[in-house]
Amino acid sequence: MGKETMRKQEVCHNCHGVMMLHPNEKKKFTVNGKEIEVSGVDIFRCETCGEEMISAADTKKIMEILIPKSETMLNLEEAANYLRVSNQTVYNMIKSKRIKAVKAGREWRFRKADIENYLNANTN
Ligand SMILES: [Zn+2]
Repeated sequence: MGKETMRKQEVCHNCHGVMMLHPNEKKKFTVNGKEIEVSGVDIFRCETCGEEMISAADTKKIMEILIPKSETMLNLEEAANYLRVSNQTVYNMIKSKRIKAVKAGREWRFRKADIENYLNANTN
């Protein structure tokens, strides 16, 4: 995607192994239950455990493609604060698909509207 100079390897946050850059790959993202494939993504992949990480420059671009600018987005901490729960609780809610979230790279993003919908749907 980008022409800017970048590092060719990173350290795996999972196993501390070497992550090599694989430029111009295709990567699938799930947004609101729909799979979207983005091509031309620069991916770092761990030689040891297979963990993948998208370059910071591409993460930003992909977020801009997948998420309309007009929507208010929250990061994980903001979503947890908004719900007055811990970050771990939010992770669990993502895993069990109780709350909608978008992941690009290591970062989770939440539409404020989705969190409000979740609250409405779960209010007694
Ligand atoms: Zn690893």
